[in-house]
Amino acid sequence: MQPIRGTKDILPNDIEIWQQIYKIAYNTLNNYNYSEIRTPILENTNLFERCIGNLTDIVNKEMYTFKDQGNRSITLRPEGTSSIARAVLSNKINLNNKMNRLWYLGPMFRYERPQKGRQRQFHQLGIECMGSEKSIADAEVIKIAYNILVQLKCDTQCHLEINSIGNIEERELYKIELTEYLEKYVNELDEDSKKRIHKNPLRILDSKNKKTQQILTEAPLLHNYLGKLSKTHFENLCKQLNYLDIKYKINNYLVRGLDYYNYTAFEIKTNETNQQNTICGGGRYDYLTHQLGGPKIPAVGWAIGIERLITLTKYQIKTKIIYNTIYIATDNLEKESIIWDVVSILETYNLRFELDFTDKNLSKKIKKASQMGIYICIIISQRELDNNSVRIHWLKTGQKQIIPISNLQEYINYIKNFFQLDSPF
Ligand code: ATP
Ligand code: MG
Repeated sequence: MQPIRGTKDILPNDIEIWQQIYKIAYNTLNNYNYSEIRTPILENTNLFERCIGNLTDIVNKEMYTFKDQGNRSITLRPEGTSSIARAVLSNKINLNNKMNRLWYLGPMFRYERPQKGRQRQFHQLGIECMGSEKSIADAEVIKIAYNILVQLKCDTQCHLEINSIGNIEERELYKIELTEYLEKYVNELDEDSKKRIHKNPLRILDSKNKKTQQILTEAPLLHNYLGKLSKTHFENLCKQLNYLDIKYKINNYLVRGLDYYNYTAFEIKTNETNQQNTICGGGRYDYLTHQLGGPKIPAVGWAIGIERLITLTKYQIKTKIIYNTIYIATDNLEKESIIWDVVSILETYNLRFELDFTDKNLSKKIKKASQMGIYICIIISQRELDNNSVRIHWLKTGQKQIIPISNLQEYINYIKNFFQLDSPF
């Protein structure tokens, strides 16, 4: 029996990678005083209809919606922001704090055609910075995404694209002009864009179709419809990104798939040109809570697709985990007391280790560690024990050292520092 199409099991081997990402995200977000929030996976369908908009792909065709036993229309959340905005209002969190910095990680559901980088159940790590309309908030959230990618060593494989999509009035004006322009070429547009021309013309800007893209090169630019406030907000954001030395490209065609955005829109994409190359999508949404019947809470946030991020960082993280694991190989497992003494020192220094339980001979055990990609192997064998010592093999360099047991604690402290300072990862 197979899992449902578009879903998959996350196996122990991959969970380690998830935990590393969680750890890095958690530390970074904690430093920026973000709090984790967990909202239900099930929500009333009309939450998403109201927030995301009926004409978007998500609401139009991607939602997992069903009737429950009480005949209510329920939807498996397709994204996080709508639920967080609802949670802030229904728990009145906004009344206690002017600013709320919230983050989440969990499964999302969209009925899409499964393909590389696209599943029906996938996971997002997301943040929402609620309570400020200033561009410094936009800069802060972008910096956090950037920091996480730097720590995962995948910043060089990605680039940031930003745009301003102005406010609702500016966009309405632009939509009229854009539609008028595109109508002249309607027969040459791709099928999806044809359908969008009256429903959601802005999404056409995002088309991956070459012919449509060519038509768009002569189209009116949203940028020229922005008012002073929108422009200044965007210029201030650019100024701060420059100061932070976060490189970006201004992409005039970047719009987000959801209706609720205003001002800033951004995406972090991999440098590959395949269709599913967006790792992180975000932007500002100042009117969402008002749209939900609450007060206006200006906000900005992003969501990272964890599966896509993992594809990018898997090798690095896996290598680092193995590299930082110390292998303990013995010629005879009955040397319990010295084995437990070594384990206890490793525990003291909070180092990850694996004790080989097999009855293989020593050289086979060392070979296995080497094949795994282990850097350091502690060898407990009679030859060294006769001199109250153990042997340390640095498997990558071939260096071997005999360490008196009385010095072992000090030596392991040195290894700990080595991992922290000299690690190639
Ligand atoms: P795309 O253009 O790839 O469909 P989107 O605009 O629908 O993306 P968002 O709603 O902004 O995506 O979601 C943020 C991130 O979540 C995406 O950049 C991507 O990394 C991830 N994501 C979105 N949909 C899926 C999916 N079906 N499977 C896996 N990851 C996804
Ligand atoms: Mg999508």
